[in-house]
Amino acid sequence: MKPLLPTPLTVLRTRAHTLFHGVETALFPASCPACGFLPLPPNAQWCTQCDDALPWRPLAAGPPSALFTPLRAALDFRAGPTRTLLHHLKYRNRPELAFALGQAAARRFTPPPPKALLIPVPITPEKYRRRGYNQAERFAAGLASVWHVPVDQSVLVRRVQHQSLTELDRSTRLQEAHVAFSLADGALNRARGEHWVLVDDTLTTGATLHACAVALTRIRPSGVEGFCAAWAP
Ligand SMILES: [Zn+2]
Repeated sequence: MKPLLPTPLTVLRTRAHTLFHGVETALFPASCPACGFLPLPPNAQWCTQCDDALPWRPLAAGPPSALFTPLRAALDFRAGPTRTLLHHLKYRNRPELAFALGQAAARRFTPPPPKALLIPVPITPEKYRRRGYNQAERFAAGLASVWHVPVDQSVLVRRVQHQSLTELDRSTRLQEAHVAFSLADGALNRARGEHWVLVDDTLTTGATLHACAVALTRIRPSGVEGFCAAWAP
C-alpha cells in the first residue's frame, strides 16, 4: 500500500499552525489555572504563589477508616487553590495537572512499602470516552513516577451508572457504590502487588474507595492503602 505523504497544502497548514501558535504563546503566555492571571514559571503547571498556598495535609493524617491502613489525603479540598485545580484536572481537559499534582504529593508523602501496586479508581467507559482520560489514573501515574512503583488500571472495572454518585444522598450513595465496582476478568490470577494502594482524586464520603476495597478483598492483598489528592470532609 502506498504510504500517505503530506500534500503541499497540509505542509503549509502545519507550518502556519506552528507559526501562529508560537506568536500566540509569545503574546499571551499561559496563565495559572488556579488563580487565572499570574504567568507560569518554565515547566510549571501552576504559579509559585498558588504553589505556596497549596494546603498540604499532615503526613500521616487522614480520615478514620477501618478498611485502610492508612487512608491518606494529600490536600485540603476546601482551602487554597485545591478546588480550582481539581476542577480543571477533572472537567477542563487538563490531565497534566493531575500528573503534576501526583508528583508534588509523592515528594511530600512517604512512599508505600515495597511491592506496592497503585490501583486508580476506574471511571466508566462512557465517561472515559467523553473525558479522554481517567484523572485518578493520571494522579496515580504522577505518584508512581516519583515513588517508582507500578500502576495497574486493569484490576477493577466500573459499571455504567445512569446517575452520578455525587447526585445521590449519602445512604443511597453507599448502596450504589457497592454494586458499581467489580474485579476485572482474570484479575484473580494476576494479583501482582502484595500491598495495594487505591488512588482517587477527591475523597468525600469514602463510599467509592470503600466499594473498591470490598471488591479487592476477593484477592486478599496483604494490605489496602488509600491515597487521594484531596479530602473534602
Ligand atoms: Zn496561580
